[in-house]
Amino acid sequence: MSVDVSSSVGFREQPITQLLVKVATRCNIDCSYCYWFRDASVYDKPKLMSADVLNQLLLRIEQHAAKWSLVDFPITLHGGEPLLWGVENFRRLAEACDGIASRTGCDIPLAVTTNGVLVDDEWLDCFEACNISVAISLDGPAHIHDLHRRTFQGTGTHAAAERAARMLVSRNIGVSALAVCNPAYPPEQYVEFFAACGISSYDIMIPDATVDEAPPSIAAFYGGLFEQWLAANSKAANVDIRIVSDMITALLGNNSPTEGVGHKPIELCTVMTDGTVEAHDVLRIAGDGFTRTGFNIFDHAIDEVRNEPRWKAAREASINLCAKCRQCKFMNACGGGYLPHRFSRKNGYDNPSVYCDDLYAMFENMDAVLKGHLYVSKPGGERVGVGGG
Ligand code: SF4
Ligand code: SF4
Repeated sequence: MSVDVSSSVGFREQPITQLLVKVATRCNIDCSYCYWFRDASVYDKPKLMSADVLNQLLLRIEQHAAKWSLVDFPITLHGGEPLLWGVENFRRLAEACDGIASRTGCDIPLAVTTNGVLVDDEWLDCFEACNISVAISLDGPAHIHDLHRRTFQGTGTHAAAERAARMLVSRNIGVSALAVCNPAYPPEQYVEFFAACGISSYDIMIPDATVDEAPPSIAAFYGGLFEQWLAANSKAANVDIRIVSDMITALLGNNSPTEGVGHKPIELCTVMTDGTVEAHDVLRIAGDGFTRTGFNIFDHAIDEVRNEPRWKAAREASINLCAKCRQCKFMNACGGGYLPHRFSRKNGYDNPSVYCDDLYAMFENMDAVLKGHLYVSKPGGERVGVGGG
């Protein structure tokens, strides 16, 4: 049985703080591990967001920013492959968001996650002029990337993604890479590849799996990645590997900025191409229709999603941990693992992560190393730890 802690974090009186906007529901490639198409209900949605839906979305964004006097309201454009929406739509959205910012005082940083295949000079001009930061999906070197990230004809997409990454790095665009961990390969192959591309900010994400699956162990991979991160940063290379910095942040007792690490509620709201509002899109991993709600931006304000049963259920599940997690010494830092990784057909989200043993080993290793690095001497020789954990 889980404990309801939602009231202690101000459930009803908080704004939605960020939006994920699905501007395209289809993709131009066919990755074998893609969660998005695990739920066939995406095919019921329009392929692209229409002008009417975009106009209504902009109206709701402005209402939301003004109502809550937000200082900022980050928006991530997503798909499918979001670049299928077209350069002109990106420019229009960015100009409209600038207008909202000037009227409300709320900054609206725009980001996009793309597979890079469509990136060309016109897109680079758009990202640079509109100050859109870009995360490119790139699973390290070709022999790892091309295992899963292929075209519909079965050929690898690495060459296109690497070309796009290098083009982005060459311009004044905030660029990061998003890789999925393949624990069969050593982490240094990813680290060396990203260094060669000139990418200093990236994430190597834990592969998606539910408790009903039996994914391979990831602890050794992430132990090695932590060593790589330590070695790179001890040379002042300033390499930011998001999962490592988030785990350290959480171990030190602070709020990690990403949703997969730490004990905190998932507050994300997803808007689909037809203006319907969904619970966290990664929960599609649970299967058909799992994220569908009865809410849409034509009939509902953005923050009304807080009253939607499926959104509420996902939000509450993100903070109400199972018995094992509540007794775990890493409960605050780990937070039970990423919500989709806690799902089972039998218990819903009332499970420790399918990666529980790995996460425990990763936090224990990191905690021991951090204690060695962060202990400082007090006068008289007594050693005191810095931070928590
Ligand atoms: S690029 Fe993204 S949306 Fe497209 S198939 Fe791959 S994982 Fe899925
Ligand atoms: S390490 Fe395991 S038991 Fe501990 S909080 Fe994470 S998932 Fe739960």
